[in-house]
Amino acid sequence: MIYSKNKDLRIAMLSVHSSPIGPLGTRDTGGMSVCMREVARELGRGGHKVDIYTRRRDPALQERIRLYENVRLIQLSAGHETGMDKLEVYDHLDDFFRAMEKFVRRHTLCYDLIHSHYWLSGRVGGWAQEQWKVPHLITFHTLGAVKNATEGVESEPEVRVNTERELAQRCERILTNTEREKEQVIRYYSSPPEAIGVVPCGVDQDLFSPMDARLARRQVGLDPNGTYLLYVGRFAPSKGLDRLLKAMPLLKHPKGIRLLVIGGDGNGASSFRDMTGICRKLGIEEVISFLGCIEHESLPAYYSAADLLVVPSRYESFGIVALEALACGTPVVATRVGAMEKIIREGETGHVVTDDPPASLAQGIENLLPLSASVSPRSLHMSVARFDWPIVAEEMLKEYFGVLDEL
Ligand code: UDP
Repeated sequence: MIYSKNKDLRIAMLSVHSSPIGPLGTRDTGGMSVCMREVARELGRGGHKVDIYTRRRDPALQERIRLYENVRLIQLSAGHETGMDKLEVYDHLDDFFRAMEKFVRRHTLCYDLIHSHYWLSGRVGGWAQEQWKVPHLITFHTLGAVKNATEGVESEPEVRVNTERELAQRCERILTNTEREKEQVIRYYSSPPEAIGVVPCGVDQDLFSPMDARLARRQVGLDPNGTYLLYVGRFAPSKGLDRLLKAMPLLKHPKGIRLLVIGGDGNGASSFRDMTGICRKLGIEEVISFLGCIEHESLPAYYSAADLLVVPSRYESFGIVALEALACGTPVVATRVGAMEKIIREGETGHVVTDDPPASLAQGIENLLPLSASVSPRSLHMSVARFDWPIVAEEMLKEYFGVLDEL
């Protein structure tokens, strides 16, 4: 049962640039959307009322959708209703705020607190905080300053870094996904440590649970005797898929191992052409399968079918896919990013590589493949039991009440 403290909260969650029901695995939609909707669902189950505000991307979409019990998605028009990049969204944040104000007035709503996700929402949340006189909490889900300090990662504009720095000073509470991220907020944005709370991401333990590997392979059309590595994620440079591709020819038996790649923006996207270009150059096209985005609900079969999940990222805020793989009974090889050292029990449930990829990734994969055959999927599932969404939502709620108690 969710922590209620005898009061049902009314929460305005803001996710302006990315919809919690958008296509997972594409450019702007991933772990943040999963995290927001799962926490909202749990809070709603506990009797709390959550409105998630996002930018409407299609004029055909309804303004209000009931997502779950006590949880609504409010889709407001701001700018043109097609794909806008993040800086275009930035230019329309004041339109979004006006539409939100209008909606709130029209429906005579009031909230106990605002929880913004990502810096763009934080900007709007800051204005709402001034207007509504309620606390403002923010989860950044990656930091512009850290991206700019990380080699090979897309660089972020000054306006993002400056906005994050301002929010890190002004919000009542900053919620990071990991201790590592907390340290980064202190280091890059000089936040007082006591203003920062750490709430991890989670995994749906019912959906992500081990399936019989032979059955899973049959279901997704794989050879029962093959060896399969799996990548699940967006194709942004920060995710490091290029490094995993470069690790493939370094494996001892590169022809005997197939890599399944899930996610991306389709065959027409430049990121897809970049990745297939690398495969061509390395002569590994025949062992790589680009499967495109897969519905979240269908992923457990792919995780269960794979021998290992590989997370080759240069930078992560958390890295939910590692939790999902382990919950499905599949070990993980990962770079030292996000929550990997927290999630993975070194040598038992996976391996975190410390040297620079791609050679270290290839070595890590070789070392871990035997584990995949011997470890019990149930024990891997249990190793991430503490990341069940009800537990995570409870921690979030404690943060909310902590802020309200200080008023
Ligand atoms: N995902 C999905 N289908 C895809 C690709 C990704 O459902 O085709 C989901 C994946 O299961 C995970 C999320 O998108 O829940 C990605 O979260 P993660 O924290 O790993 O990465 P982020 O997108 O936040 O960088």
